Amino acid sequence: MKVAVSGYKGRMGSEVVKTVLGEKDMVLVGVLDKEPAEQVMPDSDIPVFGDLETMISTVQPDCIVDFTIPKFAFSNTKTIIEKGVRAVVGTTGFTAEQIEILTKIAEERGVGSLIAPNFAIGAVLMMQFAEKAAKYFPNVEIIELHHDKKLDAPSGTAVKTAEMMAAAREKIRQGADGEEETISGARGADYEGMRIHSVRLPGLVAHQEVIFGAEGQGLTLRHDSYDRISFMSGVALAIRETANHQTLIYGLENIL
Ligand code: NAP
Repeated sequence: MKVAVSGYKGRMGSEVVKTVLGEKDMVLVGVLDKEPAEQVMPDSDIPVFGDLETMISTVQPDCIVDFTIPKFAFSNTKTIIEKGVRAVVGTTGFTAEQIEILTKIAEERGVGSLIAPNFAIGAVLMMQFAEKAAKYFPNVEIIELHHDKKLDAPSGTAVKTAEMMAAAREKIRQGADGEEETISGARGADYEGMRIHSVRLPGLVAHQEVIFGAEGQGLTLRHDSYDRISFMSGVALAIRETANHQTLIYGLENIL
């Protein structure tokens, strides 16, 4: 399986490079960076490209893994799928409308691809447990905590968790009637009445708590990614599994 990595010098991209190099059924055929000075990856003969289309036509990858930045990820993914190459995308910040557009293109081309806001199995389970709990505990708030270099807020995982819970719970208005913020933003972002709070601090990787409250009881679900290795088995699974699909899949849980 010929794999290329977009954003190869990044925190996630560099971990994906190590993973692909370590998998017996995968060959790393090229990497993409923004305006690279180098022609090959250090200590290797793997070519470095600064342009996505050139990389695709030169090394003809079966699959491109993208961990870049929200601003470019949509157009990058669109190009990858339009060229008939499978995309495995971890970059977060996609809107529902963008995912719909990409799904339509993938379906038309019959190209299997996957966008997952979280590739860690523990996080996927947390989202599924949260979806299940929301049916019985409709009062819920999310606290997501990430390192302070993260560009988008709330995190893709928090948005996906909120979407899953919104579909499972009855619609309610949370908090007191006439509630007022004396400092703007104190109650966090509002997703269909659910509050999402984003914490950004050095030292963190990716963490999330989903806190449910009901009369006389509470339930807290928490997942922690302490190291980016936590995402890699999910990425490797997605690289393999997208070969068996002809459309775009949103969420790792749909291929587990
Ligand atoms: P990062 O360390 O900033 O890495 C991003 C990399 O992409 C950088 O090397 C950057 O280069 C490069 N880049 C920027 N624009 C590019 C372009 N147009 N073409 C090619 N490369 C480009 O960020 P990160 O921490 O790895 O996170 C990357 C994304 O993954 C974020 O959206 C984050 O939220 C997401 N993420 C997802 C998961 C998941 O499980 N799905 C887990 C963790 C993180 P420069 O530095 O030179 O700009």
